[in-house]
Amino acid sequence: MPHAVGSTDSDGLNAIAQRPQQSGQPTEAGALDTLVAAEQSLAAETGEVAQEAHTRIVEQQRIEAAEAAARAEREAKRWLLPVDNYRITAGFGAGGSMWSNRHTGLDFAAPTGTEVRSLSSGEIIFAGYDGPYGNKIVIRHWDGTETWYCHLSRFVLRSGEVAPGEVIGRVGSTGNSTGPHLHLEVHPDGGDPVNPRSWLEDHGVDV
Ligand SMILES: [Zn+2]
Repeated sequence: MPHAVGSTDSDGLNAIAQRPQQSGQPTEAGALDTLVAAEQSLAAETGEVAQEAHTRIVEQQRIEAAEAAARAEREAKRWLLPVDNYRITAGFGAGGSMWSNRHTGLDFAAPTGTEVRSLSSGEIIFAGYDGPYGNKIVIRHWDGTETWYCHLSRFVLRSGEVAPGEVIGRVGSTGNSTGPHLHLEVHPDGGDPVNPRSWLEDHGVDV
């Protein structure tokens, strides 16, 4: 029969194993537990940090994509002058023998061959000869406005999408014209022509 004093080997081991927990002193086993716990905590923190970093990166990418889209939209919706160097020779509504009624556009006199540019982004919906207008391009823009570019000496583009400022043709004097100039018309929503100068100025473009 075993003694009742509790001095067997197994009791002794138990006593040793229990001692540090009772005294609060670290042992190898206790230190290992602490280390494991610390590593788990670190792993959890590292995971959180990584998750936060990932979330930040995703958010940053979302912001940058939104900013790029906004920039692209601003860029596509810009309005610009159709020629760089010009002299206005006839305003909207002017009378005279050149026009069957009143002048329906704005004349930008410039040397033959001067680049003619789209006022904004849009699509070329007509490119061809049109009687008194000569060689004419019509662009329907993103807001529904249609712009006419007339008396062109040549077409650079005849169809498709155009960007703001994209060269579509060259200044000329085709049709009912006495000298090289661009006759520009602005038709809001494809309707009746309005004064291009005040329309452009309303859209931030000084003529
Ligand atoms: Zn004109």
